[in-house]
Amino acid sequence: MRIAVLSDIHSNLPALDAVLAAAGDVDAVWHLGDVVGYGPDPDGVVDRLRSIGAVGVRGNHDAAAAGGSEIDWFNPDARRAMEWTRTAIAPATREWLAALPERRTIKEYDLVHGSPREPLWEYVISRDIAQANLAILTSPVGLHGHTHIPVAWIEDGDRVELVRPRGDGILELGGRRALVNPGSVGQPRDGDPMASYLILDPEAGSVRWHRVAYDIAGVQAAMRDAGLPASLGARLAVGL
Ligand code: ZN
Repeated sequence: MRIAVLSDIHSNLPALDAVLAAAGDVDAVWHLGDVVGYGPDPDGVVDRLRSIGAVGVRGNHDAAAAGGSEIDWFNPDARRAMEWTRTAIAPATREWLAALPERRTIKEYDLVHGSPREPLWEYVISRDIAQANLAILTSPVGLHGHTHIPVAWIEDGDRVELVRPRGDGILELGGRRALVNPGSVGQPRDGDPMASYLILDPEAGSVRWHRVAYDIAGVQAAMRDAGLPASLGARLAVGL
C-alpha cells in the first residue's frame, strides 16, 4: 500500500499537480492542512483535492480562510494574502475548509497540522517539543506539517532521534514511535525550492520523502496578477 502524505500546499496548484504526477498510482492521499493561504489558486487546489478524494485536517491558514480569528496572529504579508484569499474563494471552497477536522486518526496514524497537543499552532522545532508530543500520541506515528521542513522525530528510549532527509530519503520506522513531517508542497522552507512530499508504506513501516520540480515562475506570475505580496513570490524561488 502506498499513501501520499502532503502538507502546506498553500494554494499552489502547479506544485500540487507536479507532486500528484510524481507520486503516480497511490491508494490514498492524506493532507495535513494549510491547503490555502499565501498562493494564488485556493479554489483550484481545493477542487483538485476534492476530486481525488483526499482526506486531511485543518491548518491555521485554512481556519483563517474559513473566517476564523486566526488571521489576527498572521504577520503582515500572510495577513494580506489571507485577506485576498477570503475574497477570492468560492463558497464551496470555504465550506470544504470549514469542515476539516483539527485532528484525524487513520489506521495507526494521527494526523494534525501543527502538533498533537496543539493542532493548529505549535511548531515542532526542538527535541523538547517533539518529546512532549510523542508522549501524548495516541497512535504509534504522528503525521504533522506547519514548519514546512521535512523531518522525523523518533522515540528512542528516553531520547529523541532527529532525522533530516536531504532530497529524497527513506526511513524505516521499525515499529518505533515517531512524528513525521513531509515538508511543504507549495512553500518549502528548508532551502530547497522543489515541492516536498512523503510516501507512506504501512505494511513495510517505512516513509520515503521526495522532491519534485514545478513551474515556480508561473506561480510567481499568477501571484503578481493577483496582487499578492512580492516577498511571498520571491521566497518560492529560494525555498526559504
Ligand atoms: Zn503552512
